[in-house]
Amino acid sequence: MFFFDKSKIIKDLTVKITLCYIIAIFEKNDTQMSIEVKAVTKTYNNKNALNNISFKVNNPEIVGFLGPNGAGKSTMMKIITSYITANSGEVIVNGYNTKTHPKAVQSSVGYLPENNPLYPDMYVKEYLSFNANLHQVNKEQIDRVIEQTGLTPEAHKKIGQLSKGYKQRVGLANALLHDPEVLILDEPTTGLDPNQLIDIRHLIKTIGKKKTVFLSTHIMQEVEAMCDRVIIINKGEIVANKTLANLRDSKKQIVVVEFDYRVEDAFLYKLPQVEQVTNPNGFIYEITFKTTVDMRAHVFDFAHDNELKILQLNQKNTSLENLFTELTSL
Ligand code: ADP
Ligand code: MG
Repeated sequence: MFFFDKSKIIKDLTVKITLCYIIAIFEKNDTQMSIEVKAVTKTYNNKNALNNISFKVNNPEIVGFLGPNGAGKSTMMKIITSYITANSGEVIVNGYNTKTHPKAVQSSVGYLPENNPLYPDMYVKEYLSFNANLHQVNKEQIDRVIEQTGLTPEAHKKIGQLSKGYKQRVGLANALLHDPEVLILDEPTTGLDPNQLIDIRHLIKTIGKKKTVFLSTHIMQEVEAMCDRVIIINKGEIVANKTLANLRDSKKQIVVVEFDYRVEDAFLYKLPQVEQVTNPNGFIYEITFKTTVDMRAHVFDFAHDNELKILQLNQKNTSLENLFTELTSL
């Protein structure tokens, strides 16, 4: 006859469940975190291009890296892809340290560099096959990325004959060849016409549903069109890191009103929920309200009650555009 030690069984079970739980947490963290930048500083000629930068990017997620020219975007991206090294700090990509495991990092990352350097005399498929050989990628994968990036009709053309939009697709196809977990795209839409822009944004959004996409841009509308989150960099420092949902929920609104006559700023503070009044020029006033309720009707009634005529009355986009101007004009 077997003897069951109930307390031992319960103890064993508890240990097993706890272990499973711990393993699950580790696995979860591993798959959720694709890029981890910790206190990175990069110096060129004794000048900091990046100053003690830290941020994380999850998987899957599309993160916009927004900043004016010279802010340090390309430098950060080259460090993440392990093409250059930081002076200090640490970058972990897909679980690999860029300094100690640069090869593993490069296998995990698809990189579209700024200005997308291509060989104009090579044919699209020839170029992709050449790079596929370097990555030891099979032929089926070449056809797959050609289809995925909408290049099928152009696959037998010379790269030099393609429009800028299609050249960007070749760059993206190249970045996707080895089916990397993480895509680093440095200004992928610069120089595209409006139609090409829509196509490429759509493509990146589709890719971003399954992968981690970290893309740089100096155009804020770009971020609003494509990204889940924005990280703003200015003069080598991170000045904002916010989800787009967060930005959209920002509980503020700016109403721009032009009267036919000058009024005292203080007078406009009599309106409800006013946070700030500015007078950027002439008889134009920008009134910031602490509410998302449309305040234009209030401004209209207020003007009417005070015998002011309104020449224009608009709501200004308070989200990303303002944040960007505010943070990068310092
Ligand atoms: P962004 O991509 O945001 O325009 P960069 O990363 O290219 O900015 O540049 C950040 C700063 O570092 C700039 O001041 C730039 O002049 C400088 N810089 C970038 N690359 C080099 C380099 N190879 N040698 C010296 N300075 C550089
Ligand atoms: Mg750049």
